[in-house]
Amino acid sequence: MNLQEIVEQIYHESKPFAAGGKVATYIPALARIDPHKFGISLKTIEGKTYSVGDHKEHFSIQSISKVLSFTLAYSQLGADIWKRMGREPSGTAFNSLIQLEHEKGIPRNPFINAGAIVVADILCTLYDSPIEKLLNFANTLSGKANVAYNSEVAASEKSTGHRNYALAHFMKSFGNIHNQVDEVLEVYFHQCALEMCSDTLANVFLFLANGGINPHNSQPILNPSQTKRLNALMITTGLYDESGDFAFRVGMSGKSGVGGGIVAVIPNKLSMACWSPALNAFGNSIADIEAMERFTTYSGMSVF
Ligand code: GLU
Repeated sequence: MNLQEIVEQIYHESKPFAAGGKVATYIPALARIDPHKFGISLKTIEGKTYSVGDHKEHFSIQSISKVLSFTLAYSQLGADIWKRMGREPSGTAFNSLIQLEHEKGIPRNPFINAGAIVVADILCTLYDSPIEKLLNFANTLSGKANVAYNSEVAASEKSTGHRNYALAHFMKSFGNIHNQVDEVLEVYFHQCALEMCSDTLANVFLFLANGGINPHNSQPILNPSQTKRLNALMITTGLYDESGDFAFRVGMSGKSGVGGGIVAVIPNKLSMACWSPALNAFGNSIADIEAMERFTTYSGMSVF
């Protein structure tokens, strides 16, 4: 099987689908991105890379960062993390407040905003400089030092983040935020502003295809059981309210962000990162999903 040929074929077949979507407009830095950008990167656990298109261009990974912050917190707390959040799909929007009242400030899962804000709170408790710690962690996972925060995006997230302030204060009223809300959200807004290219994103997530071991330095990040559980969480909750359809169409564990990135993993085989900024109504990149569905179909490789 020629993976480079497959990657190029799915790129050409999926690119036109971006015309049916819209870039995120809630902050200027995302609204001005060219919707025709498209990059695909595939990285195998043997260390081979297959890329096409705008795969070296940096973009805002947004909610994809929730997996990185969660991994860092999970690696330190282990199963105790489930005292602070659940692991069920939410069935509500990523920034919804409704469920939190019924469930007494315990977010359904770490990949809705409420869950990611609790994770940011955990990082504030664990580390003196959680923002730097998260950046170093992402760089260690990438095998290179080419991940950075975009300070314009972080500042815009802050100035428009009213719902995230509401979520954090609401959870604090239930005792599920231990640090100051401003301090916690500073971490959350920065993690949303992490930027990297699809080559790097595929590199960063390769540990999830590699039994939890960072393939760039052979250091364990999560144990095999935790790695299994995190991949399962991504399958069930990684694409907002489209997670079921993504699992059905694509058959990989994935995580999306409103910057237009999606990263997906096939354990023991590979990680794949796509970036096309035009989103569907669920906030997921249309062309990325088309490309990933075609990849598992043409290659015959998937989780299942
Ligand atoms: N930064 C966005 C917010 O917290 C979320 C981004 C995303 O879902 O990718 O509102």
